This record gives sequence, structure tokens and C-alpha cells, in this order.
Amino acid sequence: MTDAAPPQSIRYENPVPKVARIWLDRADARNAQDTRLLYQLNAAFDRAAQDDDVSVIVLAAEGPHFSSGHDMRERGSRRVLAEERTVGTWCGFGCAGAEGLMAREKEIYVGFCERWRNIPKPTIAAVQGKVIAGGLMLIWPCDIIVAADDAEFMDNTVAMGVCGAEFFHHPWELGVRRAKEMLFTSEAVSADDALRLGMVNHVVPVDELQEFALGLAERIAQRPLFALKLTKEAINAAQDNQGRVQALQTSFALHQLCHSHNMQVHGMPVDPTFQMPTSKSRQESASA
Ligand code: ZN
Repeated sequence: MTDAAPPQSIRYENPVPKVARIWLDRADARNAQDTRLLYQLNAAFDRAAQDDDVSVIVLAAEGPHFSSGHDMRERGSRRVLAEERTVGTWCGFGCAGAEGLMAREKEIYVGFCERWRNIPKPTIAAVQGKVIAGGLMLIWPCDIIVAADDAEFMDNTVAMGVCGAEFFHHPWELGVRRAKEMLFTSEAVSADDALRLGMVNHVVPVDELQEFALGLAERIAQRPLFALKLTKEAINAAQDNQGRVQALQTSFALHQLCHSHNMQVHGMPVDPTFQMPTSKSRQESASA
């Protein structure tokens, strides 16, 4: 008996020489991130990183929305899938209480985001439609973000009783004051505002998004890869020397405190009374 291939939530292609394009391919669920999708995405990033014929990686998404965040339908039914292998050195994924939850989030959220952020090749996110909470954690690790003019960026976790998504890059991406307003209100930041704040590099018409991102990738891919990877390393080091890693660790600990508080008060990691400001379905549009 042979095992059937697991469902594929990610598609990988080389649309032009030296460029890999990775697609989130779960449009029917608005590219909500279940554990399988995240492990498949991680494997795709690894494949592109380790392919010496690839210089630039583009991350794109099928459907009208880039990602509605973490798939809340997984909560409580999480199990380790056969095709998954842990990529960090943390342990205790099956443990009860805060120990198991923290282990999982340390691996598949901050662990993956940091791995992707440090891939030694330029990465470009091409983003359209809604990008909610966990969705931000797919684009913020990328080096360059190209947004369609219909893109909206939201972190609604405070409305859910949690102090921001796990990969707490908000102050670095938006600046301190706008990051606070985004989190305090749980309201969306428009593509134009994101451009003004420096959170995205370009805003283009939605039907030109992929062509623009691919053209940018092709131009960058003409440069020597060693110079590209060392430039990325230098800029990332500058950001890290501003205390990014330490701030991220503190934010993650506070995030786990919120989950533990909600478990004690509500019996689940998020406040079940939260109201989504713009979505009909909190199951597919929420992330914590
Ligand atoms: Zn969490």
C-alpha cells in the first residue's frame, strides 16, 4: 500500500531564468495558513534557497486575497503530520498547556519567519487584497513588497485579546506610532498608506501586480548573487543591531502570556467574544 501524496497548498515554478516563484495555492480558503501550508511553504523556500540557479524568490498568492491569516479551524485539532519535520531545535510539541502551544508557535510562526527573513537571496512579496494578521507574517520577512492598489493590511489580534501577531515586526515596518494605532484599532492600513509609511516598496494596479514583481525580480537577478546576499546580510545586520531580535523575543513572550491568560479566563488561546470589524467569517479571517 502506498500513501497518497498530501494535498498541495503551495505551487513552485521558475517563470524566468534565475527566478523562483512560490504561490500560496489555497484560494478557496483565502489562503488561510494551516500547518500543512506553512511546512510546504518552508520547504519551497528551502528549495529556492538551495538551488544555485535561483537568485531571486517571488512569493505570490492565488485568488483575490493574499492571506486571511492563520486557519482558526485547526485549533484544538492540531496534530503532527507525517510529512512535517521540525526545523528548529525546540521541543515539546505534544505537551499540555502553555508548553505545547509555545513550542508550536515558536516553530511554525517566529521560527519560520526568521528562517525566511534570513534566506541569503532577495525575496519579493507580490500582494493583493486582504492581508490579515498571520498574512503579514508571510510578507514582512520578504525584502521587498509590491502591493496591488486593492491591498489592505490588518492585524486584528488585539481585538482577540492578544498583543499582536507572533512575528512582531510592526514597529519596524510601520514606525512606532502607526504600529500602535494599527494594533489598538485592529483597522486596516491601505496600500497607499503602507507606501507612504515605507511598509511597501511599490503600489501598482492589481492586474499588473505579477508582471511588475517579476520584472523587478529579473532586474535584480542580473546582479552577482554573492553581492546580493552580502548586501542583504549587511542591511539585516543593521536592523538587528537596533535591537530587533531582542524586541522580537520580548514580544513573543508577551504574546504567550496573552494566550495563557485567555486559556485561564476563556478556556481557549483567544478571547472568543471578539468581533471582526470587516469579515463575515471569523474562522477564515482571524489569526493569533
Ligand atoms: Zn499565538
